[in-house]
Amino acid sequence: MPDFSIKERPVILERLKTSSYDLLVIGGGITGAGIALDAASRGLKTALIEKNDFAFGTSSRSTKLIHGGLRYLKQLEFGLVREVGSERAIVHRLAPHLVIPERMLLPLSEKKGLGYWLTSIGLMIYDYLAGVRPEDQRRMLTKPQTLRFEPLLRRDDIKGGAIYAEYRTDDARLTIEIIKTAFGHGADIVSYVKVQDFIYGSGKVQGVLVEDLLTGMSFPVRAKVVVSAAGPWVDELREVNKSKTGKRLHLTKGVHIVVPREKLPVQQSIYFDVDDGRMIFAIPRGRITYVGTTDTNYAGPIDNVTASAEDATYLVRAVNATFPKVNLKVNDIESSWAGLRPLIHEEGKSASQLSRKDEIFESVTGLISIAGGKLTGYRKMAERVVNLVIKRNFQDRQLDKCHTQRIKLTGGDFHSKKDVRKYMLTRVKALKIYNLSDITVNYLVSNYGHQTDRIIEYFRQLEDPDTELRLLKAELAFTVEHEMVVTLMDFFVRRTGLAYFHINKVIQHKDSVNSFMQKLTGMDDQTSNRQLRDLEQFINQVKSFK
Ligand code: FAD
Repeated sequence: MPDFSIKERPVILERLKTSSYDLLVIGGGITGAGIALDAASRGLKTALIEKNDFAFGTSSRSTKLIHGGLRYLKQLEFGLVREVGSERAIVHRLAPHLVIPERMLLPLSEKKGLGYWLTSIGLMIYDYLAGVRPEDQRRMLTKPQTLRFEPLLRRDDIKGGAIYAEYRTDDARLTIEIIKTAFGHGADIVSYVKVQDFIYGSGKVQGVLVEDLLTGMSFPVRAKVVVSAAGPWVDELREVNKSKTGKRLHLTKGVHIVVPREKLPVQQSIYFDVDDGRMIFAIPRGRITYVGTTDTNYAGPIDNVTASAEDATYLVRAVNATFPKVNLKVNDIESSWAGLRPLIHEEGKSASQLSRKDEIFESVTGLISIAGGKLTGYRKMAERVVNLVIKRNFQDRQLDKCHTQRIKLTGGDFHSKKDVRKYMLTRVKALKIYNLSDITVNYLVSNYGHQTDRIIEYFRQLEDPDTELRLLKAELAFTVEHEMVVTLMDFFVRRTGLAYFHINKVIQHKDSVNSFMQKLTGMDDQTSNRQLRDLEQFINQVKSFK
């Protein structure tokens, strides 16, 4: 199989110009990635076009949970809880290193949220609908037990608690692994190419007109069916297709803040009540804890969504009200991210009340758009879309049924959680000679799975007295050659997550990594300098709140 790298990009572009596809997918977030994998693995000739980096949109800005959707139970969306609940176990099997079981503490407040018995019954229904294994099912806690689980909680307000099962992930890494798996199944996939318009024939969409944003060249791409999985941009493309009638999107903004672990040293992930009736997460992850999310109506620019001072203050206040000893300040925030939920508008409902269900729109010209939904449900959403594509256009073809529940994602070829642990321990041992800590090896394995060995190969070949920088260079070499990293931001924001979870490391090594990137890709000085400036601007943006 050819490498999924910038060196291969001209070859992929040439194929896009000269081929005629069964299906063309717009958008390289998790929804588009899932559709491309499903379609290619069933035998459809598939292309996917992304105008930015993969997972640039909502798919790198979520709470990063593959979850059973406890909050949907409150909204009585039983079908959604059942679907995402059973999906989490499947996604865990497909990439056990990347989708990791997480115990969630649900403290019960005297004044807010649901009562003890209602919560107990709710969680029981949740366990049943989500098919949670007996050993992971909910455990109700007394007040002293809850405070032992989390001594930082406000003592006078806690009446008990519960522990229930969730999974955590890295949304952008999950997306890129699905993209790579789809590429491995023969899909032609490219980033930094923007769909500008649709091409029509006999009144039907028969392809798209695109612009390669790296060269400025425009060209048509032909396809029998076009699916728009453009997330928050879905309505923009429906407008271009002149089909924005009936239901429309309702964008709401969700912000997360990142603080050093010592500023909010919670012992495990917590899902807690806020004064306004909402609930938010505090999730420890290595050296940091992240907190989110907000949920507010959004009408600003979609391409550059940022956290405001109001968002930051809301989250800091919520933390201090629940963990009074912490005394968190906005100044303690070291990074943040803001994303848009592409929800379906419902008259009279507030941001938090809107359904998270996905919705498919079909236009009279045959454009299929999908929006809404969850990271967690990507595989089922993809199955529904591809079923529809086949029903409308390829009934006469002998195509496989959806079997993505059996397609392991790249790097995820482990039998079980235990198998991941065994792999990790052997690498910890092997890498002792290089002074790589257990935490570092853990990071590598949970990000890259079996592909850790490829990174170690690069690491061995490189020379640098600074081990941290040497490893960064090895990761860069791997992601440039196998994960279509085009810019410095692709690497620091979406392949490694370092711009969110270890921003000081980014600040310390950005110049050296930039020089190495230039060496690897041969990019000219002007491009290299611009990429560095873009990264610096991004760092400034995620650290400051206006
Ligand atoms: P996106 O990821 O936004 O992808 C759309 C892509 O289309 C973008 O990359 C964009 O660049 C591209 N595009 C747009 N226009 C064009 C064009 N003209 N040409 C080419 N490409 C184009 N779900 C969970 O399961 N668990 C969670 O914990 C969770 N937390 C969340 C927290 C927040 C704050 C938010 C906002 C959402 C959360 N979600 C969660 C929901 C989940 O993140 C989204 O449902 C999912 O990421 C949407 O993915 P998508 O692929 O549909 O959209």
